[in-house]
Amino acid sequence: MHRRSALLRLLVAMAILFLGVGERAATGGSNDTVWRRRIIIDPGHGGHHKGGIGRINGREVYEKDVTIRVGERLEKLLLADPRFEVRLTRRKDVYVGLRERTQIATEQSGDLFVSLHCNAVPSSSRGSKAKGFEIWTWNSSGSVSAAGKALAKIENEEPGPTRSPNNILNRMMFDALESHALESKRVASAVRASMDTHPYFRANDRGLDSARFTVLEVYDMPSILIELGFMTHPQEVKMLFDPEWQNRYAQLIYQGIVRYYQTTDSNFPTNPSTGRLLSRAH
Ligand SMILES: [Zn+2]
Repeated sequence: MHRRSALLRLLVAMAILFLGVGERAATGGSNDTVWRRRIIIDPGHGGHHKGGIGRINGREVYEKDVTIRVGERLEKLLLADPRFEVRLTRRKDVYVGLRERTQIATEQSGDLFVSLHCNAVPSSSRGSKAKGFEIWTWNSSGSVSAAGKALAKIENEEPGPTRSPNNILNRMMFDALESHALESKRVASAVRASMDTHPYFRANDRGLDSARFTVLEVYDMPSILIELGFMTHPQEVKMLFDPEWQNRYAQLIYQGIVRYYQTTDSNFPTNPSTGRLLSRAH
């Protein structure tokens, strides 16, 4: 890690721990003034890093193309709602490192980090009928399930140096992450509940889990990772590439984000047109 970014991270972690700015969220001075919530959308993979590989009519298709399409649709829906602002970690088919993504989220002062991915079963079990969506949050002790361990291995394509909690800087970072763990679970539950309003997703809900995903190591906001569906399932891969289904994924995630704020944040306007909504200065 560069010396400068280590220092920056230390300062951020200190601010969160000692000044309580992690609860930055909502108030903007008077009761009828609220800040727009800034959502960081993170379309997984990109560039030479294709992510999971599927096949449609014999042609190879890649996870990186689903995540950007759904990310763009989610951005559109959020921007149509004056209660939100949006930043994306990538807009093009380019590679962005996992740590770079978390850095973008911090530098952009996000309120919530949403990473979009698709699942795939290992090539050794190609015949698998695995399908459905999953939502993940970060947990310091690594994954609690075998499936989670395998998935974290796939998604952590660049694990980097292992962070030991014994080091003072790392300890502070872990504490900052753990301070957001509960909030991240609330976001995950709200998005899951929204997905479950659709019969297909209700029937193919693989639940919530937690693992040590590098991309979820965002120190100053709650973060979730959504595995939209399986690239390796013959029907589901078609849905993942179908614009109508991409809209549906985005719509349900958007409604889940709204649901999260409405159930946990009393300053969040129930109606997009009520109250004054301000953009933050940067
Ligand atoms: Zn992925």
